[in-house]
Amino acid sequence: MSARLVLLGPPGAGKGTQAARLAEALGVPAVSTGDIFRANVKDGTELGRRVQDVTASGRLVPDELTNELVRDRLAQDDAVDGFLLDGYPRNVAQVAALDEMLAAAGRELDLAVELTVDPQVVVERLTKRAQVEGRADDTVEVIRHRLDVYAEQTAPISQVYADRGLLAQVDGLGEVDDVTTRLLAAVAPVRS
Ligand code: ADP
Repeated sequence: MSARLVLLGPPGAGKGTQAARLAEALGVPAVSTGDIFRANVKDGTELGRRVQDVTASGRLVPDELTNELVRDRLAQDDAVDGFLLDGYPRNVAQVAALDEMLAAAGRELDLAVELTVDPQVVVERLTKRAQVEGRADDTVEVIRHRLDVYAEQTAPISQVYADRGLLAQVDGLGEVDDVTTRLLAAVAPVRS
């Protein structure tokens, strides 16, 4: 399998859950920048100490740090033939950085899949998750800030990929299994 994919969508769209399922089905690693940052914060690593305050407040980690992290991760053996990125790229500068990483390896992105969800549903989901998981950035105020950051910096990415003919949009509402089925249908054309 050699699918190189990006999964887009607002916080609370269900990207993490779906990324894991999709990656499993495609036989590629799911690479979630949010998960990597959280694991480092939890383990108290040097990186974790550097990103702790930024992630807890819902701001973006500086591009330089994030790009470097993704570059290293995509260079690992299991990602050479394909990957599913979740949470990256998150602004237009990161799109360019990913383009450069892929070009340097003689590769191209196959598809960006966007999970679309009603903003009201997103807030409900995140508030519910806050009670279950207790993530540091799932407080009402920080959720609001993350959604603002998404609208300002991340949402424009969809248009960038659409202009390249690389965007597929998938309805993120409904049963988890149904959403997975829709995603698999959307990526079917690039499976090889
Ligand atoms: P969500 O999509 O629910 O907001 P993530 O798990 O994707 O959550 O990200 C959590 C936090 O990690 C973000 O709010 C941000 O601080 C940081 N982060 C994750 N990915 C990136 C990225 N590509 N660039 C900058 N910061 C990031």
